Amino acid sequence: MDFQKLVDVYEELEKVSSGNKMREILADFFKTVPKEDIAIVAYLTLGKFSSDYENAVLGFAERSILKAISSAAGVSSGKVRESNQKTGDAGLTAEIFLKHKPQTLVPVGKLTIHDLFDNLKKLADTSGTGSQDQKSIMLVRMYQQVSSKGAKYLTRIVLGTLRMGVGDMTVLDALAIAYTGEKKNKEILENAYNICPDVGVMAETIAKKGLKGLEKIEVQVGRPIKMMLAQRIGDLDDLEKKMPGKVSVEGKYDGERVQAHKTKDGKIQLFSRRLDNTTAQFPDLVKYLEDIKAKEFILEGEILAIDENGKPLAFQTLMQRRRKNDVEEYIKKVPVQIKVFDLLYVNGKTVFNDPFQERRKIINKIVPKGKHIMPAEEILTDDVEEINDFFQKMLDDGYEGIMIKALDGVYQAGTRGWNWIKWKKEYVKEMSDTFDLVVVGAYYGRGRRSGVYGALLCAVYDSENDSFETLCKLGTGLTDSVLEELPEKLKRYESSKKPARVNCKKEMIPDVWFKPGVVVDVLAAELTKSPFHTAGVALRFPRFLRFRDDKKAEQATTVKEVSEI
Ligand code: AMP
Repeated sequence: MDFQKLVDVYEELEKVSSGNKMREILADFFKTVPKEDIAIVAYLTLGKFSSDYENAVLGFAERSILKAISSAAGVSSGKVRESNQKTGDAGLTAEIFLKHKPQTLVPVGKLTIHDLFDNLKKLADTSGTGSQDQKSIMLVRMYQQVSSKGAKYLTRIVLGTLRMGVGDMTVLDALAIAYTGEKKNKEILENAYNICPDVGVMAETIAKKGLKGLEKIEVQVGRPIKMMLAQRIGDLDDLEKKMPGKVSVEGKYDGERVQAHKTKDGKIQLFSRRLDNTTAQFPDLVKYLEDIKAKEFILEGEILAIDENGKPLAFQTLMQRRRKNDVEEYIKKVPVQIKVFDLLYVNGKTVFNDPFQERRKIINKIVPKGKHIMPAEEILTDDVEEINDFFQKMLDDGYEGIMIKALDGVYQAGTRGWNWIKWKKEYVKEMSDTFDLVVVGAYYGRGRRSGVYGALLCAVYDSENDSFETLCKLGTGLTDSVLEELPEKLKRYESSKKPARVNCKKEMIPDVWFKPGVVVDVLAAELTKSPFHTAGVALRFPRFLRFRDDKKAEQATTVKEVSEI
């Protein structure tokens, strides 16, 4: 197939912005593409020449591309560079200059998509000294074989800037419509793509085997699987509803997720959460994974930076390992550890649809327990107290929290499913601070609270200026008996106007003012900056705990303390 056919489609796509219209254009086009070309065409419609996880890069400098344009067009490179500064898009520059190509002595013929694809692969394989010149020469030859519009898109493909606004799913959808005529196949497509996130393989399967083929798509070691994600709950007591009975509880580690693949030939490859190939970053990790007792596997774990005692270090420390250069030096500077927490494939068998409990048993058997590699810490329990104790232990050990997993849960590739629930320290109310606040005002209640105070205006003390600065409106936690007690307690502090020393923004003016006197103990999840409170910050989700009759207003939490928090 000629590249020009694809160029015509790019031109059409460039004119539309609706996803549906794009799908239609692509579906009509795919119907005309021979089955043996469909994989290549699928990649090229996305401006790619391989799947993302292969990490193939062309490494073309714009300078070399402009040089190729000038050679192919027979004009000076100065002129091309000047024009490129105006267009700001090497694609447009190529189109302008290649409108009038010089006639070559040898007819060059047309560029087919196979030639283009092979050339792009060759370009990606060309590196080292003099490679930019070699690349330029190959590009000149391709420029001679395409129309000026073709030159525009070819340039964008080699620069990696061809984005027609079509997403992977649009291409897959269009393929399914073209080859099967069916439109309602989102679920099948998504499920298959989660297991095989490679547009080329997906396209070929649809073209040759239809949707039935997609349903049978198999895991392949060496090709990453989209990773499963976790859900969250608001309260540990809600766990019972989501995951009744016994559960597996693991540490939640704050590092970098990794999916490790070992193929039969013993080669180990690593993939990140974005499915980038990160093997070159972690040669040390590859070595540790070699100790796993299995010929073939796909497993997942969290990579953590550790100190000399194997204790976890901050995520930021691990980020120093995100590098292409000085890898060996940083292996020593920032040693890592992997906590293995899932197994998707082992010795020729896909296990991700097996119950988690079974997968975890195999992990415990095949993963060694050392300083640099180990199974994730785990307890099995149906007792919330025990879960909470384990959670506290994980926090004490320097981890982020816990992951609660359904024992019979399958691995839900690419999905934030309910088989995993995360519980982090940020979610826990008991972890938040308490504050001693001064009541400086009240708002009348509505509905159930009409006739009594519905909420209180609370302040912190500014010891430097001897003033009270508002921090929050407090309504939660005021039980009926507290509401009854309030008027009695506050009565003697009531003031007909804003009391001296109290500062308040107009948005917060209460129905009744109180001179600073009553102190309350308040629990809150966090502090945020606020334009509505004179403290400059506000308490979020404050909850009344009790009266602090033993405290004077001036002994309340200070502005300084909250600003430090
Ligand atoms: P989050 O990024 O907060 O949605 O949490 C999900 C992430 O937690 C996963 O992508 C993993 O990188 C990480 N994680 C840490 N420990 C575990 C564990 N034991 N099981 C699964 N994921 C974990």
